[in-house]
Amino acid sequence: EYKGMSKDQMMQIRQQNCNPMTMKVTSYKRPVFIHQGHMQWLWDVDGKRYLDLFAGVATVSVGHCHPRVTEAAVRQLKKLWHTTNIYVYPPIHEYCEKLASYLPDPLKVIYLTNSGSEANDLAMLMARLYTGNFDIITFRNSYHGGSPQTMGLTSNAAYKYPVPSGLGCTNTMCPDVFRGIWGGSHCRDSPVQTIRECSCPQGCCVANENYIGQLKDTFATSVPSQIAAFFAEPIQGVGGAVQYPKNYLKEAYKLVRERGGVCIADEVQTGFGRTGSHFWGFQGHGVIPDIVTMAKGIGNGFPMGAVVTTPEIAASFAKAVHFNTFGGNPVACTVASAVLDTITTEGIQQNSLEVGTYLLTQLAKLRDTYEIIGDVRGKGLQIGVEMVKDKTSREPLPVHAVGEIFEDIKDMGVLIGKGGLFGQTFRIQPPMCITLEDADFFLAVFNKALFKYMERR
Ligand code: PMP
Repeated sequence: EYKGMSKDQMMQIRQQNCNPMTMKVTSYKRPVFIHQGHMQWLWDVDGKRYLDLFAGVATVSVGHCHPRVTEAAVRQLKKLWHTTNIYVYPPIHEYCEKLASYLPDPLKVIYLTNSGSEANDLAMLMARLYTGNFDIITFRNSYHGGSPQTMGLTSNAAYKYPVPSGLGCTNTMCPDVFRGIWGGSHCRDSPVQTIRECSCPQGCCVANENYIGQLKDTFATSVPSQIAAFFAEPIQGVGGAVQYPKNYLKEAYKLVRERGGVCIADEVQTGFGRTGSHFWGFQGHGVIPDIVTMAKGIGNGFPMGAVVTTPEIAASFAKAVHFNTFGGNPVACTVASAVLDTITTEGIQQNSLEVGTYLLTQLAKLRDTYEIIGDVRGKGLQIGVEMVKDKTSREPLPVHAVGEIFEDIKDMGVLIGKGGLFGQTFRIQPPMCITLEDADFFLAVFNKALFKYMERR
């Protein structure tokens, strides 16, 4: 039972004292006032239960207040809250050794941070120091952070302020096979395929070739001949689960390395088993990055991030001392260690694969039923459902219409997310402990919300 502030009081404080703009991300007419959580469930201050399929933006990886993780945190809180990495203390060493064992060679040197933006900032710096180059390429429609540096990587107007944040950052065309100008039904690695007919005369490999052509154009026109880095998420998150054609990343990595750059995988959303088939999203593309950044799911909601790189790149980072007061905090390391153990012992990655594949397959049936679902895509529990006015024009479903469906789903007890440049893509990125029954509940709710909207339209 909640006996704290009234909802009106909280809303007033939100407007006056507490970063009011963040609520734009949901824009619920009737906001959710969360009280507590357990595993895939959240309860609001009135005691109403929600199935949480957005996990605090793909962050609660193994479940809200997962008992094993909570117990580990409490144990460490009683022992030691804080020291810094200038001393030698067990949790950070135990954690770094464990995390390194989840990464392929030669990705073994770890720098712990407190967030994804911090991790990406550090990766940018590392890439520039190692290569001696400055320019960094990311995709349009990407999100890599909100700090002044990473805002330059991010390519979504909603998250950009008018300051010189983009020095040395260039965006290249996002190889989006649904909304992009080239596409096709077999272009990407997903259990379901887009309904869009392949637009390439000779098959889907041509779409990939064309998008790679755009990357080459970027090299020819927008950056010096030598670059520092190329950043990409294995499957976009904020961008709306956009997946690239098969082999795109493999070819892009090769081209980037030919120009002296390093390849950086932003695993902030896709890491830790979320894509189901693999522990890291990059493994699904058959590539090994030079730097991997992670956050969100690493700590199941505890503030933490990491940069992992090779001994060679780490060596050039030794030109000065990189100091971070909280990076590697004992409680954060203990929590993150328990998260890794939980993922492994509870078959979390396998669950992502099974429940995710089921969700994707069932959502594809809804796509075939409703004119306003343009695309269903993703892997594991990194899922996007792109809403359109109609399947022929593929124009984004207007914001108010998406908002109505989104609100109705919430009112029926399920929280999902929104993404894409026009807020047109529903995002399903739940705690990875959800069950097939939860998936069925969501599918019934989604179906009902769509049906009601179509009746009103
Ligand atoms: N990279 C990606 C892919 C993200 O989705 C985000 C956050 N949405 C970030 C980086 C930045 O993480 P943080 O909010 O922890 O700074």
